[in-house]
Amino acid sequence: MVCKCGGKVYFRRKYEGTELCKKCFVRSIEKKIKKEIRINNLISKNDRICVAISGGKDSTACLYILNEIVKKRKDMEIFAISIDEGIGEYRKKTISKAKELCELLNVPIKIYSFKEEFGKTLPEILNHRINACTYCGVLRRYLLNKKARENKATKLAFGFNLNDEAESILMNFVFGNLEKFLRLGAKVENKEIKKFVPRIKPLREIPEEEVFAYCKALNLPHYPKKECPYGKESVRKTIRKFLYELEDRYPGSLFQIVKFADLLIPPLRKEFYKKGKIKYCKICSEPSSKEICKVCELLEKTNL
Ligand SMILES: [Zn+2]
Ligand SMILES: [Zn+2]
Repeated sequence: MVCKCGGKVYFRRKYEGTELCKKCFVRSIEKKIKKEIRINNLISKNDRICVAISGGKDSTACLYILNEIVKKRKDMEIFAISIDEGIGEYRKKTISKAKELCELLNVPIKIYSFKEEFGKTLPEILNHRINACTYCGVLRRYLLNKKARENKATKLAFGFNLNDEAESILMNFVFGNLEKFLRLGAKVENKEIKKFVPRIKPLREIPEEEVFAYCKALNLPHYPKKECPYGKESVRKTIRKFLYELEDRYPGSLFQIVKFADLLIPPLRKEFYKKGKIKYCKICSEPSSKEICKVCELLEKTNL
């Protein structure tokens, strides 16, 4: 079999029953992402986009494609932020890949560390707690939002792919977390919270293996392994494995899960979204659902 253009097959897309050459594959990925951006209004005029990059394939692809769009526009700007949690060699390697990519694309990069911002590295904050990912995620999102805002970003872009999104949906089903579930989607914003930078996920419709194949096709510098040495969150891993098997046997399942969530979220938001008073943390004055935000609460605890 050959690609419809006659070229040598580079990627077999099971859920579509298509076989694509490298050029057609890259073009189709970019078309899908641009469509996702357009349909969901992910970027708009005069945007200054901050891309959260880790050096891994997802954020690499995300930065690359957004930069392709932004560099053709005079009214838009783009920059990248990397967070150094202080988790040793792993992060050193991924950050050096992130720097390499930004240099190649001529995109400014800013690096912020837990040590400098919180006074402690992730291992020091965790101090033998088990659910590292939960804490790390809270701290990282807090810092990304704060730094994106301080650098005058109007959007904060993440490289979450289709698998990540389907995983998060099922995670919220397993834990029965409606509030978190309602915060999923291609774009998360809350205009009432001025300190909250709207988050966008342009790669949300692209399966993980296609993001990987896209980076490989374009030779984009990235760190190949996804697994963080602290990642022990077992439920997510189980769901991840299950979704791989499901998609393998029944191609298109991941899309169905995400599409179904997209159908559920808007009406449920109207019905259940808590319109509580917007609060700001008494200690750090960042947006928070309680008097003291989760980050300050966690940092206080580790001081004991
Ligand atoms: Zn082709
Ligand atoms: Zn706080």
